Amino acid sequence: MFGGIAGLLRGRYGDAKRLDESDPRWKLFALDVLSAAPVFTRRFKATATQVKPARAFVAELLGSGHPRLDDAVLLTSELAGNVVRHAVEREFDVSVSLADGGVLVVRDCGSLKIPRPRNAADDEVGGRGLDLVNALGRLGGAFIGTRSGARWCGFSWGRRAVRLVSDSRRRVECVTSRSCEKYGIATRNRGGKMSQNDLIITGGHVITMDPAVPDGPASVVVRAGRIVDVVPADREIPQAAEVVDATGSVVLPGLVDTHRHTWQSATRHFGLDLNLMDYLQAAFLQLGPAMRPADVHAATLLGALGAIDSGITTLVDWAHIQNTPEHSDAAVAALRESGMRGVFAYGWPQVDPLRWVMDSEAELPGDIRRVRAELADDNARVTMALAARGPEMCRMSAVKRDLDLARELGLRTTMHLSNEGGVRALHEIGVLDETVTLVHACGCGDDELKLAADLGVTASVSPLIEMTMSGLGTPATGRLKAAGVVTGLSVDTEIATSGDLFTQMRAALAQHRQAGHPEPLSARDLLAMATIGGAAVAGLNDRTGSITPGKSADLIVVAADTVATAPVVEPTAATVLAAHPGLVRTVMVEGRLLKHDGVLLAPVRQALDAAADTLAYLRQATQGVFPAATATS
Ligand SMILES: [Zn+2]
Repeated sequence: MFGGIAGLLRGRYGDAKRLDESDPRWKLFALDVLSAAPVFTRRFKATATQVKPARAFVAELLGSGHPRLDDAVLLTSELAGNVVRHAVEREFDVSVSLADGGVLVVRDCGSLKIPRPRNAADDEVGGRGLDLVNALGRLGGAFIGTRSGARWCGFSWGRRAVRLVSDSRRRVECVTSRSCEKYGIATRNRGGKMSQNDLIITGGHVITMDPAVPDGPASVVVRAGRIVDVVPADREIPQAAEVVDATGSVVLPGLVDTHRHTWQSATRHFGLDLNLMDYLQAAFLQLGPAMRPADVHAATLLGALGAIDSGITTLVDWAHIQNTPEHSDAAVAALRESGMRGVFAYGWPQVDPLRWVMDSEAELPGDIRRVRAELADDNARVTMALAARGPEMCRMSAVKRDLDLARELGLRTTMHLSNEGGVRALHEIGVLDETVTLVHACGCGDDELKLAADLGVTASVSPLIEMTMSGLGTPATGRLKAAGVVTGLSVDTEIATSGDLFTQMRAALAQHRQAGHPEPLSARDLLAMATIGGAAVAGLNDRTGSITPGKSADLIVVAADTVATAPVVEPTAATVLAAHPGLVRTVMVEGRLLKHDGVLLAPVRQALDAAADTLAYLRQATQGVFPAATATS
């Protein structure tokens, strides 16, 4: 087999005939699992003096004509340096594949773990190589304890995708020039022509939620942040710079949470036993006034990351915490930082809180105009809406003024509304149209829901909290569907419910079936509420909510080959009944990976610490809200 390698190298890299085939250092290590190209490895002692020979090994094997020689040598140097510094083993392997998409790996000898990347926050000064190593880590290459197996760093210079290959499970992942650019790593592309597609998700069962695009085994093709094609598995898999392997998984449009008070996510779960009045007192009289801008930021970022982790790519952040302009800015900043698609729904201040919600005539802060100017681009990833108080909190004159303001500013309106008569009252003052969403709608009459449907009004149901928090009413899921109201699901507040939409889908299903409502409610109906229906409720169904060419690449991959889900008979039912955040492998928004290989690509530790600080502060700043402190917080 060695006889063919010099020719192979010559053929590929022109002047790269550097390999002395008789040199015993070159040992055929394996065949690249995908291309059957030869892979060479050499073992080094894990000492600082061996880093240089490791670099030389790679340089010699690739040859001076190799278009990614500098990057490969730099990465070898960084990874080898990490072995020396961190590895348990006393030796390490460097392997190089001669595949079109060429791969390079440095690993602890005899270990299934890749050398841990140095912590950029540690005592090291970060350079390009360290950035590259860290990028690999964030993209799933170096998380010890997850997906065991050596990881391969790929460099692209041919037509094939660049890859990170785990040799233990033959999963294909990617680090591409694009990924590197995302992390500020310079790349060059002097080699063969790259595909113009940025990414494909391939090998999975695609549920499009678009009647015009068939479900089934297919590849989803992404270019410039958009879905450009859904290619059935019986056709040739398109080329792309980056490949996400969805084998054994379901590929779905990202989920949409249509109503969440994300500013409350740092005070999760303490309110399981609260009724509605207790909750409102805690939220409006104690927590709201105490929240500082940094607390809003911490809570919103944590809530958003939790949402992303569970496959939610779009969140309507129902932010009735506009205490000061800095509070508004903090929430917007957190949504932007999270990477998810967000609708910042501007509410009202929790300063002198009853003034805003008890038969209120108070006019919203003029700062809403400044925030609108800040969020002027309605095509941006984070857009704006009005979180209005509605007739249950305001006099009708104030309701009309709020909604007129929304119209003037070109904002959609989302409004809590549960009581019978509310829809009629709103219609009488002429404010109901397709830009308005009713949150809960539990007590609205069937005639009112029909009126709402006729006017194009949408609804948001928060099934679990409506059933568990006494005073909210009974979920109107079946009645809304029967009336023809476009409906989305929502979490509402993590104070008293779980933050993922799989739970909400199951809660809606259970309530609907238990109530014996005659309107059929299928798994597909539930998934529609969590995706395309929710997108319509958020006013974003022109860009998200389904796997439709032209829409933004807001996509998730949910593992289905697990003991919790397999064997899959019907993918939609399996998703609705058994999916959970731990099965969400990949999440992307506008084609950008936010979670990959089950790992959030975000500064999770900092977010958790900031939220813990906020909770500690709120324990001090409020009275009688929280039960006694527990060990975990
Ligand atoms: Zn709410």
